[in-house]
Amino acid sequence: MHHAAPLEFKFRFVNKQGQPEGLLRTKGSFDGERLHLGKGVSCPAVAILQSETRNDRLILALASDKPEPGIVVLAATKGVVNDLKARLDVSRSRFWADASRKALQAEGRGHAHRERECPNCSAVLLLTDMPETPQLYCVYCKALTTADGPEQRVETSHMLCDECGLFSAPRKFTIFYFYFLLVVYGYHQRITWRCPGCMRGEAWKMFFGNLLFVLGVPVAIAQLIRAYGSSRVGRYTGLDKANLLARKGDALAALDVYNEISSRVTPCAGIKYNAGMALVEAQDLEQAAEFFEFSLDDCANYAPAYRALIQCYANTGQHEKRLALQRTWGDTSEEQPERRAG
Ligand SMILES: [Zn+2]
Ligand SMILES: [Zn+2]
Repeated sequence: MHHAAPLEFKFRFVNKQGQPEGLLRTKGSFDGERLHLGKGVSCPAVAILQSETRNDRLILALASDKPEPGIVVLAATKGVVNDLKARLDVSRSRFWADASRKALQAEGRGHAHRERECPNCSAVLLLTDMPETPQLYCVYCKALTTADGPEQRVETSHMLCDECGLFSAPRKFTIFYFYFLLVVYGYHQRITWRCPGCMRGEAWKMFFGNLLFVLGVPVAIAQLIRAYGSSRVGRYTGLDKANLLARKGDALAALDVYNEISSRVTPCAGIKYNAGMALVEAQDLEQAAEFFEFSLDDCANYAPAYRALIQCYANTGQHEKRLALQRTWGDTSEEQPERRAG
C-alpha cells in the first residue's frame, strides 16, 4: 500500500475572504496515512469527508466533534493540489472500502462485498448490493467511466457545474469572460479605425462596461454559454442549450434535446440526471424520479442521481422505495427529507 514516497509540499492557508494568509509558504506532507499541515494541523486521511480542487486551491472538509465539518482551504501550485487530492482520495477510499468489507464479514455477508478501482484516479469505489451497470461513477474525481466492449471510456471533462448543478463541461468563468471580451473587442475593431493608443482607452472602457454587463445581467452569460456551446460539435452537442432550457423551467424543450443527446451518447447517466433536474425545475417530481431511476440504470453508483431520487421519493410519499434505495447505498441517514419539510 505504501509504494509512493511521502509527498512534501509548500502551501498557504486560505482565509474566509479567499485570500492566502501570510507571505511565507508553510511546509506540509502526506505519508500515505496522515496529512501534516505546518506545525499545528495533523490529521489522518480518513478524517477527510470531502475534498475538492478548484484551480490552485484544495478544499478539505474534515470530520469534527461539531455538527458542521471543519473546512480547510489550501493554496499551492496546481500540480501539488492535484497530486495531494489524488493521494488523499486513494488513501481514504481504501480505508472505507476495507472497513465496509470487515463490517460485511462480521454480518456473515463477506461474499457480497464488491469494489472497483476508478480508472482515472485509482480511488476505491464501493459497489456492494448495487446492480451491474455499464457506467461507473467516481465520487472522488467525478469521472464517469463507460464500459465500451473491451475498452473503457473515461469521461472527465463533463461533471456537475458549480453554478447550476447540471451535468455539463464546466470551465473557469474567466474563459467565458475572455471570450466575451474577444467577441466585443473583435467586433469593435472591425468597425473602427484608430491608433492603438486610442484603442487602449476604448478597451478599458469596454472592459468595465462588460464587467457590469456580465455581473449584472445573467442573460448575457446565458447567451455567451449558448454561443460557446454551439461552436463545439461533438457527442454532447446541444447540451448547453438543453441545460439553459432546463434552468428556465422549459422541461419539454429540454427533454427533446436530452433525448437527442441520449440517442448519440449511450449510456449516459449524466444526461438522464439533467432530464430529471429539468422535471424537478418544472415541479413534476414523479416523472423526475423516473429519469433519476434511468440514470441509476446506466450507472448504479451515480451519486447525484441517488441524492435527487431520495428527495423525489420523500416528497412524493414513496417511502418504501426510498428506504430500499437507501439500504442499497448503505445510507443510514434517517428520514432526513421529511424532517426538513416538517
Ligand atoms: Zn476517480
Ligand atoms: Zn452551469
